[in-house]
Amino acid sequence: MLYCPHDTADKCRAANKSGNVCELSHWKEVTFQNTNPSTGDCIPNYYCKKRKECTNVHYELENPHVLAKYVPFFYYVNVNRAIEQRKAKNLSDCQWLGLNVNNDALNVLGSGYNVIMINTPNDESNSSIEILTKVADLANEGLLFMWAETTKKLEFCREQIPKWGYKIIDDIVWVKTTPLQRIYRSTTPTQGHFTSSKEHCLVAYKGSGDIRTMPLNRQIDCDVIVSEMRPHGQKPDEIYSMIERLYPTSRKLELFGSKKTPGWITCSPNIDGFQITDREMQKRYETLKSKNKSS
Ligand SMILES: [Zn+2]
Ligand SMILES: [Zn+2]
Repeated sequence: MLYCPHDTADKCRAANKSGNVCELSHWKEVTFQNTNPSTGDCIPNYYCKKRKECTNVHYELENPHVLAKYVPFFYYVNVNRAIEQRKAKNLSDCQWLGLNVNNDALNVLGSGYNVIMINTPNDESNSSIEILTKVADLANEGLLFMWAETTKKLEFCREQIPKWGYKIIDDIVWVKTTPLQRIYRSTTPTQGHFTSSKEHCLVAYKGSGDIRTMPLNRQIDCDVIVSEMRPHGQKPDEIYSMIERLYPTSRKLELFGSKKTPGWITCSPNIDGFQITDREMQKRYETLKSKNKSS
């Protein structure tokens, strides 16, 4: 989809000598009682959960239906096939454990995860980093996706991943955009010359055999995601559908995530409660709870 450089239809009309709007897509401002334009644009925009209280300006597309036209055909084909394959293997449930990622949590999770995604935690002195040394036990074979939003984290990931027996094979880049589809620029003053407009996700493989023998779909997705900045360190939705297309029959685990996703088991201190449909995991969770009660 192509967006008009003037953003809104009003500005476009004012800029065109003919007084007409162009054929590109335009945005419209959505204002509420508390909206105060001097506070700027809301960066989570679509994902802003408090639109009515938030003072920032929110936007919507003038003609949201045009979006559907631009979703490539292969997306439907692969997603439908993936949904069928997942259903056949009971892999479509949304499961979560609102626990800190510690030894107890890792024991409940068990092993056999073909896909693990890690939102690398911030505090490196923190025990959560230490616990990451145990990631090696979560899988014997499969793919690892590890997010690094800073150069420091990227270095940490590059160092850590081989220690878990994984080999780095790819790198996905998320180019963060604002609601109006411009490149996002962080304004945090502690940052250096550059504006933290992107995030890396390292892709790594572990297995006894050749990765070419794994049941992966190949040559489908681009390794660049251009998508809006999300609130609370959430990763773009695109990565989940990308992994779905890449490896539909996999058992998937996300560590330190901030949202629950169908087909995934999410273990994180950033979500509340728990929901587990995996019988074995349920048993291990019950054992942990009774152990905690008696101690
Ligand atoms: Zn225009
Ligand atoms: Zn907002």
